[in-house]
Parts: sequence; C-alpha cells; structure tokens
Amino acid sequence: MNLIMLGAPGSGKGTMAKLIAKDFALPHISTGDIFRENIKNQTEIGKQAKAIIDRGELVPDEITIKIVENRLKEDDCKDGFILDGFPRNLTQAKALENFAKIDRVILLDVPNEEIERRMSGRRTCKDCGEIYNTETYDKTTCAKCGGELYQREDDKLETVRNRLEVYERQTAPLINFYQDKIFRAEGKDTPQETYEPVKIELSLVK
Ligand code: AMP
Repeated sequence: MNLIMLGAPGSGKGTMAKLIAKDFALPHISTGDIFRENIKNQTEIGKQAKAIIDRGELVPDEITIKIVENRLKEDDCKDGFILDGFPRNLTQAKALENFAKIDRVILLDVPNEEIERRMSGRRTCKDCGEIYNTETYDKTTCAKCGGELYQREDDKLETVRNRLEVYERQTAPLINFYQDKIFRAEGKDTPQETYEPVKIELSLVK
C-alpha cells in the first residue's frame, strides 16, 4: 500500500504516519527528516537546504524529487510506503507519477489557528527527532533517548506563518490533483482519535 500524508505543517502528518507505519508495517519516509539529517551531517544537500528550510521555503524540486526517487528504490519500500511531506507542489506530484503508483492520500484537516498554537509549543529531540509539545510535556530532554529538546528555527511563529502561506499556495492544490484518492481525517483532540477512522479506511485498501 503506497500512501501520502497531506496537510499543513503542524497538522500532525508525522504523528499519524508513525501510527500507520506501526500498524501496517510500512516505512515512514519524511522528506523533512531526511533534510534535517543531511543538515546535521553537513552533507552537500544539507548545506544547500539549511537556509531555505530556516526561512520556511521549499527546497528546489530537482533535489527533493531525486531524494525521494532513490529512497523508494530501497528494498523496504517494495511492499509499500508512507510519504510524509512529499509531494509539496504539482511539479513533485507529477514527477512522483513516473516512479510510483499511489493508493490513498490521507488529508489532515486542522484549522490554521490550532496549527499556530500547536507549532509554537513544538519541541524536537536533537538526537532522535522525536516531537513533543510543551502543553503536554514540560521536560527539556527526550523521554526516548535522553537527547536535548529544542525549538526548530522553522517552528518559530513568523516562519510558521510563512510555511502556512507556502502550503496554501503550493501544496493545497494537490487536494484537487488527488481528489479520487483523498481520505479526509479531521484533527481531533488526540492523535489516537484522529487515527481511528484512518485505520478503518486503510484496512479496507486491497
Ligand atoms: P517538514 O518537516 O515536512 O515540515 O519539512 C521541513 C522543511 O523541509 C520544509 O519547510 C521545507 O523547507 C523542506 N521540505 C520538506 N519536504 C519538502 C518537499 N517535498 N519539497 C521541498 N521542500 C521540502
């Protein structure tokens, strides 16, 4: 089963993708995580992407598409995958059609005010990338690996607003592009509640 998670930054795509990955034994491929890993390791891609990501803009399509195309060739993707954060515009969506067939697109529907509230409290582990929110977790170290938690440069309010604008302009048109494959999940109070109808829908996909 080949899936895409669609939704504004902070809508909970990563959290939802992790729940699906666990239940359906699919690899979770987050382009944001791949870029952050490259930045941490100071690779050529990381160097090119850092300033762009810090501004909340999109990394050039040629770079991003190649990364995903190569990643999907790996062995663990042969029975399916979950793409989280890709595609983010029509050029990427059309390119993806040349190397993968998508079964379902899960659209996370969360109002912008709720997103701004969530994102300003978001903290990320420097070591393993686990995500927390100051509203539900007030410690400064990761419960999983003990790494230090920090606020991503692109989770600061100004950048969040820019990212939401980029989403509206470039990514939201994909809802129309994928209209036959979309399953709309309304953001509920807890990830588990949001996930329930998604799980039922995906268990029906052949
Ligand atoms: P995310 O963790 O998915 O919110 O991604 C963090 C940042 O990485 C984004 O704001 C973009 O700058 C960059 N990025 C992630 N995925 C893509 C993509 N598909 N195309 C271009 N840039 C991306």
